[in-house]
Amino acid sequence: MAEINIDGVTKRFGTFTAVQDMDIRFADGEVACLLGPSGCGKTTLMRMIAGLEHPTSGRILFGDRDVTALPTHARNVGMVFQYPVMYPTLSVAENIALPLKQDRSLSAAERDLRVAEMLDVLDMREHGGSFIDELDSGNRQKVAVGRAIARRSDIVLFDEPTTNVEVNAKLQLIRAIKTVIQRTRQTIVYVTHDQTEAMTLADRIALMYGGKIIQYDRPDVLYNQPLTEFGGWFLGNPGMNFVPATVANGQISAPILAEPLPAPANLPSQGAIKIGIRPEWIAMHDTPQPGSVEGTLADQTVGIAGRYLTRVSFGDVDVKVKTDGRPPAPIGGRVHLVPRRGRITLYADGNRLA
Ligand code: ATP
Repeated sequence: MAEINIDGVTKRFGTFTAVQDMDIRFADGEVACLLGPSGCGKTTLMRMIAGLEHPTSGRILFGDRDVTALPTHARNVGMVFQYPVMYPTLSVAENIALPLKQDRSLSAAERDLRVAEMLDVLDMREHGGSFIDELDSGNRQKVAVGRAIARRSDIVLFDEPTTNVEVNAKLQLIRAIKTVIQRTRQTIVYVTHDQTEAMTLADRIALMYGGKIIQYDRPDVLYNQPLTEFGGWFLGNPGMNFVPATVANGQISAPILAEPLPAPANLPSQGAIKIGIRPEWIAMHDTPQPGSVEGTLADQTVGIAGRYLTRVSFGDVDVKVKTDGRPPAPIGGRVHLVPRRGRITLYADGNRLA
């Protein structure tokens, strides 16, 4: 049983709290990505699961087994680090086989089979006999992944394995990691600050900020229904718009709304809130449409694949909008925006209301 249970864990370094009273359960056989900005505590949490750091308070359990006080070697976890430790005098196949040699229950033939399987899954068959120094950074990291996975430990931890891999090799490495982790039944905790990587690999993402878990859910839920303004802003490229809105007499008004919206019952009768809507959830037209509001196209940038990112201003409020193809007006021209109704979410004090 390889469920990981983080039970009320706090980690302090002197007076600084890196992980704060955290409760989270990583399900057996799932891939969980720890995602968040630099310094939010991702690596500290991962190192505590590995036994490389110990909690100041709280418990860590693998299934029913309390491992809080156990050293790393007694936990049976595989690890992939940013800078893999490799043996340059050994071949790729020998590097992958090395930890398997410690498992006395494996025959040499079984070991060879596992190594061959790993080379196959990683698409590295032709590199089995190569030396580590002959590989590019992406393939070197693939060997580290193969070595960690081939052991078949219940849990494998990844600490930003693609950070030091050159851009061209990165995608191929991520693809290989995805293939490997989809095939294995191991429980995986994967630290990254790269949202695309997390979205690509995770069954669930634990979004972290300031030593806390902000939201733990499927990637699509994190993207479509962020619980916090931070989550809406952090995920997406660029993140969600938070448009100032006012509530009065049971109605919500905002520059992005052609007609006021009925306020849900749980809202205060008056006050300032925000409307959360992603740039890709707003349609832009050159003529008025049902439910459209008129603004000025303030600027535009070409994104990739002909998608444009624009800024539309409504007096002192700016809204980011993504368009497929060139925007329908020049900079300074008038455009008409229609936010997708079902996508509008309300926030107050940084948290989602409805
Ligand atoms: P990054 O993406 O930059 O690695 P992270 O989310 O992994 O960030 P951690 O490395 O877990 O963050 O660090 C969380 C905080 O704890 C940081 O402010 C860091 O400076 C602090 N910290 C981590 N390890 C130590 C340590 N050994 N001593 C003192 N402070 C530490």
